[in-house]
Amino acid sequence: MTTSTREIHLVSRPTGWPEPSDFRTVEAELDDPAPGQVLVRNTWMSVDPYMRGRMSDRKSYVPPFALDAPLEGGAVGEVVASADDSVPVGATVLHGLGWREHALVPASAVRVVDAERVPASSYLGVLGMPGLTAYVGLTRIAQLREGDRVLVSGAAGAVGSAVGQIARLLGASKVVGSAGSTEKVAWLTEELGFDAAVNYKDGPIGRLLAPHGPFDVYFDNVGGDHLEAAISHLADFGRIAACGAIAQYNDTEAAPGPRNMSMFVTKRLTMRGFIVSEAVGEHPDAAKEFHERAGQWVADGRLVARETVVDGLDHAVDAFLDLMRGGNTGKMLVRL
Ligand code: NDP
Repeated sequence: MTTSTREIHLVSRPTGWPEPSDFRTVEAELDDPAPGQVLVRNTWMSVDPYMRGRMSDRKSYVPPFALDAPLEGGAVGEVVASADDSVPVGATVLHGLGWREHALVPASAVRVVDAERVPASSYLGVLGMPGLTAYVGLTRIAQLREGDRVLVSGAAGAVGSAVGQIARLLGASKVVGSAGSTEKVAWLTEELGFDAAVNYKDGPIGRLLAPHGPFDVYFDNVGGDHLEAAISHLADFGRIAACGAIAQYNDTEAAPGPRNMSMFVTKRLTMRGFIVSEAVGEHPDAAKEFHERAGQWVADGRLVARETVVDGLDHAVDAFLDLMRGGNTGKMLVRL
């Protein structure tokens, strides 16, 4: 028997901003699982900024997406057929074959998750890769200490909203965020406990941050002028965790670097980039520690997560493009 399904293919590599015509919905037939495989009906899929990098054909830490083949990414779903005793039919699993309604996955490449205790979608957000990125970036890369004053950009997104809250839970004395709308700023200060937040569209980011600095840690999700402004507002021995540079992902020409690099010397600053999967490999204790702590924080309401949900595979590309434009508050997800 086969299962009829639909999947999204990349059909051309975007230059600059991706266009809907760079993608195509394709009907496919999947075989029954071979020994060692499971068939998953995906119920949630993630769209993430890093996917933009994989749409281009350039050398990076992950290979580019293939053309005329389904895109990939985090997904959660229900096992509907299994040819492996370790993963039963009915289990809810997390895996890496999103952008499609069904996936044939090796049982060794899925993680069975508990969808009774928390909603299944959280494993793509606050309890998944974005939450882990926030935790590892703060604790292992920025080496957060009690009393630190923390600045995070992209603060109302999946990673950023977790960064601000986790920093506070780990003893930061001050947490300040930047985001792209009045509503997002209000969410950060009124619901997530940020001490202050700025809307970077209100003026030059350096000037907006001036009343709130100096900072000991800058968690950079944005790059560009945010990074330059943060360097100016870091205290002596400040540390930057370079997590992302979304302001530049659709650039067609190299962006100018920060003009204030000499402050690395005068303020004795440190900046370290990281990729979450690799950082977790380097710090094998971090993932276990994160899952225990974050699970508890979410359960008792100290770590709050919001999701922006788009329905249906037909709107997955729109969800991805909207994420890049700031249409999400918290984690952007597609419900299938
Ligand atoms: P988000 O949920 O934060 O969504 C992206 C957000 O970026 C948008 O909502 C938008 O919010 C903001 N944004 C878009 N363009 C700009 C711009 N020009 N200037 C400032 N902000 C902008 O995504 P994630 O939480 O998934 O990812 C956040 C960052 O972390 C990304 O850079 C991503 O690549 C990186 N990342 C890195 C990982 C690693 O291992 N190093 C792992 C996971 C994520 P707004 O309305 O505020 O503009």
